[in-house]
Amino acid sequence: MTKTEYSDAGTYFRNRFGSKVYKAAISLDVTCPNRDGTKGTGGCIFCSLGGSGEFSSPKNKSVKDQIDSCISALARKVPDNTRYIAYFQSFTNTYCEVSYLEEKIRQAFSHDLVCAVSIATRPDCLPSGMISMLSSMNRIKPVMVEFGLQTIHEETADLINRCYKTSEYDEAVSALRSEGIEVITHLIFGLPGETEEMMLESVSHVARSGTSGIKFTCLYILKGTELEKMWRDGKVSVLTRDSYFDIVEKALKILPPDIIVHRLTGDGPKSILLEPSWTKDKRSVVNYINGRFKKRGT
Ligand code: SF4
Repeated sequence: MTKTEYSDAGTYFRNRFGSKVYKAAISLDVTCPNRDGTKGTGGCIFCSLGGSGEFSSPKNKSVKDQIDSCISALARKVPDNTRYIAYFQSFTNTYCEVSYLEEKIRQAFSHDLVCAVSIATRPDCLPSGMISMLSSMNRIKPVMVEFGLQTIHEETADLINRCYKTSEYDEAVSALRSEGIEVITHLIFGLPGETEEMMLESVSHVARSGTSGIKFTCLYILKGTELEKMWRDGKVSVLTRDSYFDIVEKALKILPPDIIVHRLTGDGPKSILLEPSWTKDKRSVVNYINGRFKKRGT
């Protein structure tokens, strides 16, 4: 059977930076407007108490120490010339003073092995001063911005308590791209009430939005989330491995080759992951992906 091709991030980064690139997850002292009452309370229904940053280091450590911890943890598994993208992952990393984030980006850039930063945030947290700062940082080393869009459908966005409009995403992507800043968009397949057609509509919309990259993940049920309650009440179910990757395959066929796929599926934090259980065996998921999909140009 012919494998479905995709433009993978590993190849893209190797071509761009001349070496293998890993992400070093960083936590900053920020929260989220969807948790502190500014936009909502309780957060998105799938979001854990760690603000989707369970793989990051503790936020009380300096940026340099967090990067060094990540490098030490990977040291024996990666080639000597590996470089790192400092990934400001937990919560909403532009939900702060511009000067605070600028200082943290400068600290990351000053690390010899850091080749870029990637900043997870929301499209409704990017005032013009923040975009100007990111634009000037982007002239020192590449800056990428990651949005957890998850879906373009407003009824689903309401149900998951996303608390911003898809039009705000469209405007933010356009503003960042006009400054030459790369955008990576996250989509979840299997959100409650969504049909396959709706999921693929989200993919088509994102493909037209101007995003530079995309991350797919299946819906995870994590302990302590609102989604856990819905799942225990029988209101939510999760996708099987094959049904999830059937949707991924259709999504990849929609994407033009210049959109980089940074993730075909996520990697839920095992300590709080309830379902889908098939995602817990990472090696078998990787083998399945390699058997079904092909990195473009390999
Ligand atoms: S916007 Fe991000 S950090 Fe905030 S609640 Fe939603 S997923 Fe969590």
